[in-house]
Amino acid sequence: MQENRASFTCIVCPLGCSLVVFEDPGGEDNLLVEGNRCRRGEEYAVEEYRNPCRSLTTTVATVFKDCPRLPVRTRGEILLKDIFRAMQQINSLKVEQHMKPGEVVIQDLVGTGVPVIATGSTRPVLEGCSNVRAGFKY
Ligand code: SF4
Repeated sequence: MQENRASFTCIVCPLGCSLVVFEDPGGEDNLLVEGNRCRRGEEYAVEEYRNPCRSLTTTVATVFKDCPRLPVRTRGEILLKDIFRAMQQINSLKVEQHMKPGEVVIQDLVGTGVPVIATGSTRPVLEGCSNVRAGFKY
């Protein structure tokens, strides 16, 4: 009997093995993994089943008319279950000082300990705002 199961595509290497994780009916809290060609795939599948995490890439509002959205990303991964709260915090923010790529926009995103950093600049003319380079219009 394999009731609690999930399927993933392994993203650890380009082979992209199709993984199936299911709870071992005979074990206590044990997970079994099928479809992996290596140990790294098994570890990925167990982590993805128990604690799925994601990096978050988005934009944040600014007060600057020539660069109204600043591209940002998390410096690390956060739990998938925290993504909605994280977006609420990011969407409530308005950047009021000029930023360069790598500068910290949020020090601790929703208590995860993971910072949010700028991946573009708020000075499009002087520093080549990535918003403009990417051709986005707001
Ligand atoms: S299971 Fe191993 S071989 Fe398959 S995609 Fe994952 S890392 Fe690559």
